[in-house]
Amino acid sequence: MKLRVLGAHNRETITTKCTSLLIGDVLSIDAGSLTSCLTISAQKRLEAVLLTHAHFDHIRDIPAIALNLYRERARITVYSTIEVRNMIEAHLLNGEIYPRFQDLPRGCPTLQFKTMRPYEPEVICGYEVIAIPVNHSVTAVGYQVSDSRGNAVFYTGDTGPFLIDCLRDLCPQILVTEVTFSDRYSPLAADTGHLTPSGLHHVLAGFRRLKGYIPRTIVVHMDPAMEKEIGEEIEEAASDLGALITVAHADMLVPELAPAAPTTGKPHQGHPVVNYIP
Ligand SMILES: [Zn+2]
Ligand SMILES: [Zn+2]
Repeated sequence: MKLRVLGAHNRETITTKCTSLLIGDVLSIDAGSLTSCLTISAQKRLEAVLLTHAHFDHIRDIPAIALNLYRERARITVYSTIEVRNMIEAHLLNGEIYPRFQDLPRGCPTLQFKTMRPYEPEVICGYEVIAIPVNHSVTAVGYQVSDSRGNAVFYTGDTGPFLIDCLRDLCPQILVTEVTFSDRYSPLAADTGHLTPSGLHHVLAGFRRLKGYIPRTIVVHMDPAMEKEIGEEIEEAASDLGALITVAHADMLVPELAPAAPTTGKPHQGHPVVNYIP
């Protein structure tokens, strides 16, 4: 399974892009940087994008890639929960902010929506994909993507405390997780449904107690202003746990995976948070 981090941050600047992942050449997760990190040819190779939640940094490139693919006479399928689809149709591809590419061209639209239901596996681009509800300030899911050789990656999307409850019945080899804030912002992170390095330490230690191992971990969605601090704190956490944790950067290729144990059962649902920071 070829895994590439496109954007690795929560805010776009000249040196940072919002979070997107690419699996193989055809399957992407979150639309933070699909158009800013991929050539037109690479965008045309995409067959599907999985969206974790409706915050703008995760859906921002849906209108942009839709226009590109419309002009190139290509198509893409957008998989998300019904809540995310409704938000995009109401506020972005609504015929006012941008054309309704879900209806254009007539008879063969550029963009097709498909609804993901939590815990119900779907085969997408030859991968088994399962959406797992996670704890964030709006309805959000993470995705586990498995290939036919048993390689599995779990991407958390945006999440926060209680992530361990969501991972209870999964056995990914690679965990791609958000860590948005540094430890001194732990109260803010808890209130807004985000992780800090110490929060991730807690999750990984809990995961090892449950499963006997810690998946190779890739950190994304850092706030650029805290990146240095986050990097130092992640290094401490990795050293304390004896775990391999990598802070991602834009356009980072993750080395090939080895086979993993299969997944089982139905994970617990996250606990609600109330405040709003995407
Ligand atoms: Zn975000
Ligand atoms: Zn968010």
